[in-house]
Amino acid sequence: MKKEKINLLIVDDEEEFLNSITRSLELRDFNVVAVNRGEKAIEAAKNSSFDIALVDLKMPGISGEETLKLLKEQHKWMEVVILTGHGAVNSAVECTKSGAYSYLQKPCELNQLLEALKDAYKKKVMNRKKIEEKKINKLLNISISNSPREILRKLRELDQGD
Ligand SMILES: [Mg+2]
Repeated sequence: MKKEKINLLIVDDEEEFLNSITRSLELRDFNVVAVNRGEKAIEAAKNSSFDIALVDLKMPGISGEETLKLLKEQHKWMEVVILTGHGAVNSAVECTKSGAYSYLQKPCELNQLLEALKDAYKKKVMNRKKIEEKKINKLLNISISNSPREILRKLRELDQGD
């Protein structure tokens, strides 16, 4: 069976790091889009759907914090993992309060990175499942207790609440 690939967006202003990490992850079941500015990450996320974003904290232009906020606002299913350099752990912790799934300190081992990304992916899949289950339960309830007209009305409501 073909293994499912994880769609990953990486944003980091250090080109060398970006290139090497992209190469390593592409060999390990990830589809990677790599960009070097927060602005470009926001743009890239508009054009395709990512499971996870790996976001550097310190970048010229919009910061990692800002990038995180915009990504979470615009793509509620995306999980974000923050990459932080030495001495910026406090801001990384702050980021988890703004919705980042986790953070990693640079330089980090590839294994550590892989684990963090796979955990974030599991979280994303679980969340999606939970919401879908809720929706199915609502649908079942609606279809049990209502007239056809009422069922249609409630289905429309449910769609809009997505
Ligand atoms: Mg940086």
